[in-house]
Amino acid sequence: MIAPGETIGILGGGQLGRMMAFAAARLGYRVHIFAPEADSIAAEVCSRFTCADYTDEAALARFAADCAVITYEFENVPVAPLAAVGATPLLPHPRALETAQDRLNEKRFVSELGGRPAPFMAVDGGAANPMGDLARAVAEIGTPGILKTRRDGYDGKGQWRIKSEADLAGLDLPPQALIYEGFVTFFAEFSVILARAADGSVQFWDSAENVHVNGILDTSTVPASAGIAAQVPQARALAQKVAEALDYVGVLTLEFFATEDGPVFNEMAPRVHNSGHWTIEGAITSQFENHIRAVCGLPLGLTTLAVPGARMLNLIGDDAHDWPKILSDPANHLHLYGKAAARPGRKMGHVTRLKLEA
Ligand code: AMP
Repeated sequence: MIAPGETIGILGGGQLGRMMAFAAARLGYRVHIFAPEADSIAAEVCSRFTCADYTDEAALARFAADCAVITYEFENVPVAPLAAVGATPLLPHPRALETAQDRLNEKRFVSELGGRPAPFMAVDGGAANPMGDLARAVAEIGTPGILKTRRDGYDGKGQWRIKSEADLAGLDLPPQALIYEGFVTFFAEFSVILARAADGSVQFWDSAENVHVNGILDTSTVPASAGIAAQVPQARALAQKVAEALDYVGVLTLEFFATEDGPVFNEMAPRVHNSGHWTIEGAITSQFENHIRAVCGLPLGLTTLAVPGARMLNLIGDDAHDWPKILSDPANHLHLYGKAAARPGRKMGHVTRLKLEA
């Protein structure tokens, strides 16, 4: 057990790290952030900051020497250099990073555990012959579909929608490994977020109904519609299998499409998730607090709703300029991440509105 007063290391310096640091501070821990961005918004709220590249093994070793446990808020941390942390525990286990960093591995792994992803095929020709592989994948899976980079894609980046075979002609493919997925017809999207403690006990939060706009999460609402609620048990069973197979410790997220034929797995994130931000005010224990509790070997807090419902709205780009209007409604909880430049598509904050009456 890592006792309050000790230092928790967090790899990654964005808003997830910032909110994790708040939760850690409330429990009496110190936080050391490791991130390559000098203007890290997590570093602003921590006690120590190492600004270095994720591949800087000497910096990782010094960071590890200062920490009782290390966790991460960014899933694209390169895995090989992490060996430099030595004996300092790194949780969740980096196996989870390896699995989730590559869409192809992730889908294969989840399929082996009985999950059902969209039909998919690797487009691995890379620079040599990507169009040949893609033509084969499109012939096999059909259109419409989505071509995605296997690695480093997020918030709809690194994705190309293929409506028909005619779209292949104008494509300028990057020299990266890709994956082609059939387009899933869904009536809603939802996520399963669980916390798994060091003793193997698991708690789930209510599944939020997620609405994406331009590939970026717009709103997360609990409780979800009845159509989603009917699919949650099957989705949770899969998420639990994933967590157990990875001997996972911490908060794990799986995203699903709710289809007429049941839940279809989209992707997993080995970390706290944007669709769980509502838990800060809407659940008895937030995803951030339970993540900290889990990686420190403490018992988990209750994940049940604290109110009849909640809706989280992301503030993207210039949306955050509306903060005076948002605050003029006293029922809103405003979270601004302190990012300097509002770029289109950049997550600047979020607002959670609690539903106080059933
Ligand atoms: P991703 O980054 O893979 O989670 O994709 C972002 C969003 O794009 C998802 O939440 C969906 O709204 C949409 N999307 C991604 N893949 C598919 C798919 N195979 N079929 C339908 N919609 C998809």
